[in-house]
Amino acid sequence: MLSDSHFYFNKAADVMDLQDKVRQILLSPRRSIKVEIAIEDSNDELQHYTGYRVQHNNARGPMKGGLRFHPSMDEDHAGALANLMTWKTAVVDVPFGGAKGGIDCDPHTMTDKDLSLVTRLYVEQMKEVIGPAIDIPAPDVNTDGKVMSWIMDEYSKYKGFSPGVVTGKPLHLFGSEGREEATGRGVMNVRAEALKDRDRNFSDITGAIQGFGNVGSNAARLIAEQGAKIVAVADHTGGVTTPNGLDIPALIDWTAEREHGGVSQFPGGESFDGAEIVTWDADVLIPAALEGAITEDNAADVKAQIVVEAANAPTTPGADAILNDRGIFIIPDILANAGGVTVSYFEWAQNIQRFRWELDRVNDELGKIMRKAYRSVSDMAEREQVEKRTAAFGRAIRRAGKAALSRVHVNTDLGLGG
Ligand code: NAD
Repeated sequence: MLSDSHFYFNKAADVMDLQDKVRQILLSPRRSIKVEIAIEDSNDELQHYTGYRVQHNNARGPMKGGLRFHPSMDEDHAGALANLMTWKTAVVDVPFGGAKGGIDCDPHTMTDKDLSLVTRLYVEQMKEVIGPAIDIPAPDVNTDGKVMSWIMDEYSKYKGFSPGVVTGKPLHLFGSEGREEATGRGVMNVRAEALKDRDRNFSDITGAIQGFGNVGSNAARLIAEQGAKIVAVADHTGGVTTPNGLDIPALIDWTAEREHGGVSQFPGGESFDGAEIVTWDADVLIPAALEGAITEDNAADVKAQIVVEAANAPTTPGADAILNDRGIFIIPDILANAGGVTVSYFEWAQNIQRFRWELDRVNDELGKIMRKAYRSVSDMAEREQVEKRTAAFGRAIRRAGKAALSRVHVNTDLGLGG
């Protein structure tokens, strides 16, 4: 799927009739950095990892994007996800560009001590190319507040006290109220707007969720609090279901126990093969795990009428075409999961101002931004008779493109419109 990462950009650029030269400028990453990390681990074994950071675009502000620790991480992966970050920050209009990075390690098989050492060696080698005014990492798959704390600490050793170098930090270490659940809350916000658009009540809705990490579990909890029944959840260990709706707080407690490993053995439901989640019989499907969950092989069997893309790039272009033909309502990733980067922006702003916001203010401002972005994309889709994904990319390309070209060219009207 990652080889298709320019597909949606080009689809929107075609509608805009954007010149090839402008496309090249907007698609090319600003730079890509690769570092080698070697350690002697806690078992006295030699281990070797590679770390990546692709910095895609900084026209609208310092670059921003998650740090993923996963064996599949490589330069292509980071590049495709960095590209998405540029459009995501532009869709919600927060003053950042796009970047993404990670290390090809598997934290599930590492001690915290080894993970801390690997993270610190990554920062040591990246310290000149990240920073509060340059590029600000954040959590992504398999990274969390603990990892962000190590990054802040290591960077500050070289550059002095710098809480704004990274977001998604714990509350007690210059994090923001509401950041941990922000991506899930943003998913909840846009799902609510989609239900309003379709004249559906919040309470008679069923949901199926793939992925029960930071994004999936917080989205599940907040959506269940609105009255929806989450009838099935799957993660890398398998799936669990109950037709009357899972007890989400109990499932969150269950998965927090390290020895349980995931959702599949949860006693409050029946187990199933996790791959079935995509075609589960539910009103709303929320992919919140990895890329490429909805493919040409399973898209024709998706039963949900609404897909909220909480994960990055969960739908392949072939599957997207099938879902669109079937009239399934898709809220695209660059809009649906932008709540995380939005509250990251609030965290960064608080760090720079040495000031703290209360939770109500964070949630209130987040809700305003998500609803405004949803409406803007939805109105554009309606006006230009295109899908929401194409409208979201169109909106983002106009914003980021105009900023990029204004920096280098006196004539900014190169197909970017008003
Ligand atoms: P996480 O590591 O907290 O959770 C990932 C979840 O995916 C886990 O429950 C894991 O078991 C599950 N998973 C992994 N492989 C799977 C498989 N093959 N089948 C089913 N489930 C599987 O990660 P996260 O932060 O929740 O990120 C999830 C997605 O959301 C990613 O695509 C990420 O890029 C995206 N995202 C995250 C944030 C954020 O703030 N954390 C923001 C925007 C987008």
